[in-house]
Amino acid sequence: MQHTGPGYLLSRGLVVDGTGASPRPGSLLIIDGKIEAIGAVSPIGVEEIDCTGKVIAPGFIDAHSHMDFFSASDDPHHFDSFVAQGVTTFVAGNCGFSPFGFVPSSPHRHLIESSLFKAGRNSLDWNSFTEYRAVLEELGLTQNFLHFVGHGAVRTSLSGFEARALSPDEYEQMLGLLDDAMTQGAAGVSLGLQYKPGVFAKMDELDEVARLVKGHDKLLSVHAKAYSSFSGTYPMVPFGRPHNLKAIEDMLALAHRTGVRLQFSHLIFAGSQAWKTVDAAVGLFDEAIAEGVDVKFDMYPYSCGATLLNTLLPEWFMARMPDSLHELGSRARLRLEATVGFRLAGFGYPQIQITNACCSEYEPYNGMYLPDIASRVAKSPFEVLIDILDKSQAEARVLFHDYYNEEIIDRLMRHPAAIFASDSWPEPGGHQNPAAYGTFPRFLCNARERRSLSLEAAVHKMTGAAADRFRLAARGCLKEGYAADVVVFDWDEVRDRPGEAGTGAPAGIEHVFVNGSPVFSFGKVCAKRGVGRFLLS
Ligand SMILES: [Zn+2]
Repeated sequence: MQHTGPGYLLSRGLVVDGTGASPRPGSLLIIDGKIEAIGAVSPIGVEEIDCTGKVIAPGFIDAHSHMDFFSASDDPHHFDSFVAQGVTTFVAGNCGFSPFGFVPSSPHRHLIESSLFKAGRNSLDWNSFTEYRAVLEELGLTQNFLHFVGHGAVRTSLSGFEARALSPDEYEQMLGLLDDAMTQGAAGVSLGLQYKPGVFAKMDELDEVARLVKGHDKLLSVHAKAYSSFSGTYPMVPFGRPHNLKAIEDMLALAHRTGVRLQFSHLIFAGSQAWKTVDAAVGLFDEAIAEGVDVKFDMYPYSCGATLLNTLLPEWFMARMPDSLHELGSRARLRLEATVGFRLAGFGYPQIQITNACCSEYEPYNGMYLPDIASRVAKSPFEVLIDILDKSQAEARVLFHDYYNEEIIDRLMRHPAAIFASDSWPEPGGHQNPAAYGTFPRFLCNARERRSLSLEAAVHKMTGAAADRFRLAARGCLKEGYAADVVVFDWDEVRDRPGEAGTGAPAGIEHVFVNGSPVFSFGKVCAKRGVGRFLLS
């Protein structure tokens, strides 16, 4: 028997039920982890929480997360900042990364274990999705989780980070491993086409993966090959099509060809040149949707995003790492391409904030922008970039800035295909991504203060619309019989407060319940292992 909470009556609030329907006054009764009644409910001897003047909404669904690497960690506090912003469910395994799906005997297992998500568990002591699930169910989850299986993880276990096509035998194994994970309940497959080794996969491989996902009637989640108008992952063609548009077209065409349901990950516009392509990009999505392609995108409300410093590098340079870092010819070519590429993208050193240099020499500069570090150490920004890549063994983490401006965020928030996500995780040290602390309060605050969406439409995109997209049964809306994932917040006050280090707690979130158990109450996290569910698709 799984944990069931006692009863709670959230009384006299404003019910925003997650379907997009208008708010209505009412109370909500929670019994045994489920929503027992909504509306005019009289107290029946359960604990009553007065919600006068407050919104009662479904728990927020982080539609694009990497927190799966943290859920097997010994430290449940990794989840506190998400609890405090009202997140009750994560959709994880994105961008090609998942902590399962690999060949058990792989000699490359350490590459998966030491991926982007350092603070998570460093040894993956399981050999399949089912075994991973058993470990987590034994350990107990603080929130609900749905998982994609990462194409990158599977491919890494077969061919490491080698820049090549898979052999016929590896190819079969890869498809078999992805197939197994989906059969065992993964929500679909995620691609990470800007990361090693996804960046080395050719279109015929992606087609094959998409057809497999389509066969399971699941989702293909895609971190595309480019998010800026110029990216090293495409060849440099003078006056060519902006790379971010090409990347969107490639994925929409893939979905069109294969019929797969596509989740386009974190639609961003990195660099001011890409901002000029927003109309065209939105047009591509609209056109594909009109032609019957089943596509949605997720987004975040900050104009910065966390990733690895090495995502800046062109494919040819990445393929020859770490040698390329020391070859004069490679460095000279990279420097030239960076100068031209940055100009074409409207992005450059001033937009690169080193959050965690992952090497002792540069650790004192965590949180600083590349040009500032360069002047501190009396080197050029390019030299510092190479030096940090080298000394961190390409592990250095960054926040890239100028992904959006506020008008673009408003516009995307309003788009019918948009659902909301944080794409964030806690870093073991250094500067933190504000998205890990304030994403959902910030979406609500934007909706209110910039009038980008109504209260009910904003809530819908972080609850019911996400539950629909990922086919989460009996979650994401406030309905009788549904799981009692619930957030109580103050619509007039809710906002993020990132502060200097990005780590400030949001305002206005008052109570959070996961499957009927209170996990946050009046500013205090009381998250417990075992209240979250491992969701299967
Ligand atoms: Zn990604």
